Amino acid sequence: MKALVLNKPLDLEISDVPDPGAPPAGFVRVKVDTVGICGSDVHYYEHGRIGDFVVEKPMILGHETAGVIEATGEGVDGLTVGDHVAMEPGVSCGDCGYCESGRYNLCADMAFWATPPYDGSLAEYVVHPARFTYKLPIGMSLEEGALIEPLSVAVHAANRVDVLAGETVAINGAGTIGAVCVLVAKARGAARIIVTDVSPERLERAIVLGADVAVDVRSDSISEPFDVGMEASGHPESLPRLIHGIRAGGRIAIVGMANQNINFDSVTAGVKEIDIHGVFRYANTYPMAIDLVASAQLDIASLVTHRFAFEDAVKAFEYAIPPLPATGKILIKL
Ligand SMILES: [Zn+2]
Ligand SMILES: [Zn+2]
Repeated sequence: MKALVLNKPLDLEISDVPDPGAPPAGFVRVKVDTVGICGSDVHYYEHGRIGDFVVEKPMILGHETAGVIEATGEGVDGLTVGDHVAMEPGVSCGDCGYCESGRYNLCADMAFWATPPYDGSLAEYVVHPARFTYKLPIGMSLEEGALIEPLSVAVHAANRVDVLAGETVAINGAGTIGAVCVLVAKARGAARIIVTDVSPERLERAIVLGADVAVDVRSDSISEPFDVGMEASGHPESLPRLIHGIRAGGRIAIVGMANQNINFDSVTAGVKEIDIHGVFRYANTYPMAIDLVASAQLDIASLVTHRFAFEDAVKAFEYAIPPLPATGKILIKL
């Protein structure tokens, strides 16, 4: 079968790779339909590594995936051939304390698509555990299915800080992760959503998605108190600003992964009793994210600005660096 293989930094090609074959017990075989390009895929393409994760042998990219079930292994319940599905890209061990307590995103034995040494999903077929495969309801497109993954990051972040109806939420960064945070905060009933960024295009998109206030931090700052802060920019000034501006007793989520550590004013954070929550990927979010999209509480498809055919997948990645402010989510259709 064909797959999009990263040989080494900036060396990406559609190659023939072994077909994953028939699904074993508890697994499904899925014909991949749509894969979203994530910042992490682009980062591996450009640099060959993210932190300690280094691409040391050719690796298939992609982890934001939807497709159609082609075969089911023994003992698979609730999924049948022809079902449209979204797949959770991380397969945890299922046995450790974290897995048993439901925080399987913290499992030390996580095999996550397109995180070295594990291949991703930009291939014609994948074989995946049924327990991480979710049937899409009638009326939900496979494009929306592929977007359940980035949406899950925001669902998990909002769960961590428990965004409540009527609250004011400040979101720093209006890239894809900031944008999905806007959608989820809105769906959870936030009364007021403030978004900051340095790009007028991204800020404008955040307003279209439902943000109430857009702040260009090159010339301005947040001028009202807020209950919840979400750091989705990676900028070293972002967390200190959230700590400074948030109400006493507020909660902050550190969403997404910055390239650098951020120092912050721990005295102010202490005196204001701010709860700062780390957010690493997500756990148990797919059903909730699918429900949010299905109930039309949020228009996830509006995040998509570019679509490429699989034959043009290399072009899609070339297009994605450097990231242009007008570019939202890029999808590849197999
Ligand atoms: Zn992603
Ligand atoms: Zn585990």
